Amino acid sequence: MQHQLTTYLRAGYPGLAVITPEEVRAEAEIAAACTTLGHRLHAWSSSEGLVDTAEKRINSCPDPLEALQLIEQLFASEEPRHVVVMRDLQLHLDQTDPLLIRRIKDLLRIAKAGGHALILLGCRLKLPAELEHEITHVDFRLPDSAQLGTVLDGILKSAKIKNVHPVVRESALQCALGLTTTEAENAFALSVVETKGIDHKVVAREKARTLKRNGLVEVVEATTSLDDIGGLGLLKEWLTRRAGAFSESAKSYGLPAPKGLLIVGIPGTGKSLTAKATARAFGLPLLRLDMGCVFGGIVGQSEANLRSVIQTAEAIAPCVLWIDEIEKGFSGSKSSGSSDGGTSSRVFGSFLSWMQEKTKAAFVVATANDVSKLPPEFLRKGRFDEMFFVDLPDALERAQIWDIVIARHGRKARDFDTVALARACEQFTGAEIEAVFIDAMHEAYAEGKEPGPKEILEATARTVPLARLMDGQITALRQWAQGRAREAAKRNATTPRDSRRVADAN
Ligand code: ATP
Repeated sequence: MQHQLTTYLRAGYPGLAVITPEEVRAEAEIAAACTTLGHRLHAWSSSEGLVDTAEKRINSCPDPLEALQLIEQLFASEEPRHVVVMRDLQLHLDQTDPLLIRRIKDLLRIAKAGGHALILLGCRLKLPAELEHEITHVDFRLPDSAQLGTVLDGILKSAKIKNVHPVVRESALQCALGLTTTEAENAFALSVVETKGIDHKVVAREKARTLKRNGLVEVVEATTSLDDIGGLGLLKEWLTRRAGAFSESAKSYGLPAPKGLLIVGIPGTGKSLTAKATARAFGLPLLRLDMGCVFGGIVGQSEANLRSVIQTAEAIAPCVLWIDEIEKGFSGSKSSGSSDGGTSSRVFGSFLSWMQEKTKAAFVVATANDVSKLPPEFLRKGRFDEMFFVDLPDALERAQIWDIVIARHGRKARDFDTVALARACEQFTGAEIEAVFIDAMHEAYAEGKEPGPKEILEATARTVPLARLMDGQITALRQWAQGRAREAAKRNATTPRDSRRVADAN
C-alpha cells in the first residue's frame, strides 16, 4: 500500500480511505509514507481524541464534529503538510448526520487547497452519495510472505527458538498466507505452544479455522481427484490440459494464468465434485466462497466482504476459488437498484471487474444450476476461460458412475453388472445413483447381507429422478446451453470396451 499511498499524497489527493481490519499495520504504513514525504501525521478516534503523533500531544474530542473543527485549524497552515487518520468514522457516518457530511466535504476542499489529507481508516466503508466521489480507496493487501516472515521471526525470538530449517520456515509462511498479521501471529504462537517449534500443519489448521470463523471463505481439503468423477470426459480433459498452466515454466513460456471456469447444469450431476477435483488436478489449495454470506447484514458490509474475499484469495494465490451456486449470490443484481439499494449490482460489478483484470492466479470455478438468474454480463466472453454445460449422464457415464460409487462405498464394481444397473436408472443423476446405492446398502444391512442387484433395483424403482419432475427446466437449460456453453461430456464411445458397454446399456 505504501507506494500507492505515497503517490496519492504526493499528488495532493485530499480524501483517502483504507479499509482493513489491520489497523496497526495500516497505521505503520501510513506513518512510513508520511515520513518519506515529510508530512505531519495525526490520528483521531472517539476514545483518544486527536493525537499529534510527533509531539504526542492529545486533544480530547470524542465528537467527530469537534474533531473536524480542530483538523480544519491544522489544515489552515501551509507548512508542514498534515495527514489526519480518522478511525472508525463509519460508525458516525451510519447515523447520516447532514452536518457531519457537510463538514467533511468542506474540510476536503480546504485540504485540497493546502496539500493536506484526511484518511478514513476502518474495516468497512459505505459512503453517502455526497462523499462517494470525494474519497479514493487505497488498496491494502494482506501481508505477503516477507511481512509474515518478520512476524514469525518475532515469535521465534521471544520463544528462544533457534535454527529453524529454511524449508520448515517457508512452509509455515506459505500456510499462513491469507491471514492478517494478528491472525498469523496467533497461529505461529499456537504452533510454538503445541509443538515447541514451528509446524506448518498447525498453521494450516489454524488458518482453516480462522477463515471459517470469518465466515466468507473456507479452506477445503482437496481429496477428490478427476478419477472420482464418472463421465464428463471433455471437461476433465480440458482441466488436465490446463493443470500445468500455473507453473513457473508456463509463466516463462508466456502463458497467462487461466482465469476460471463456469460449470452450468442440472443439480446432482457432479459440478461441485469437479470444482473440488480441479484443485487436486492443479495441485493448488482450494477455497470455497459462500456468495450468500458476502451479502452481509450491515450497510457497506457486502462491498467490504467482497474486498476481503479477493484479498484472501490473492494472498493465497495460486489457488482455486470455488463459488457454489453462484446465481444465489448474484441474482439480486438483475433487479437491484429497487430491492436492495443497488448493493447487489455494485458488488456484482466489482466482482466482474476483478474477474476481468485480476493478475494473481486465483482460478475461479463457479457452478450454477439456474442460468436465468445470472445477469448476461456475467456470461460474456472474457470473464471465464470456458463455460461447460453438464447434462444428465448417458448410459456409458451412468455405468462409470456406478463403478465409482460402488468402489467409494467399499465394494468391488466387478461384483456388479454396472451396465445393467446403468440401464435401470435412465435419467438419474450421479447424486441419485449414489443415493440409490446407499438406500440399497441400508436395506441389505437390515437383512444382514451385502447389497445385490435385487436391493439396488428395488431402490431404483422407489426413486423418482429429479429430471422427471423438472423436465421443462432441463429442456430450457439445454436450449440455453446450445451454442453458448461447451458440452462437458462426449457422447461417443472411445474404446471397444466402452462401445460394447454403450451398446449394451442402450
Ligand atoms: P448441486 O448443483 O445440487 O450442488 P452438483 O452438480 O454440484 O449438484 P455434486 O454435489 O457434485 O453435484 O454431486 C453430489 C454427489 O453425487 C457427489 O458428491 C457424488 O457423490 C455424486 N456424483 C454426482 N455426479 C457424479 C459423477 N459424475 N461421478 C461420480 N459421482 C457423482
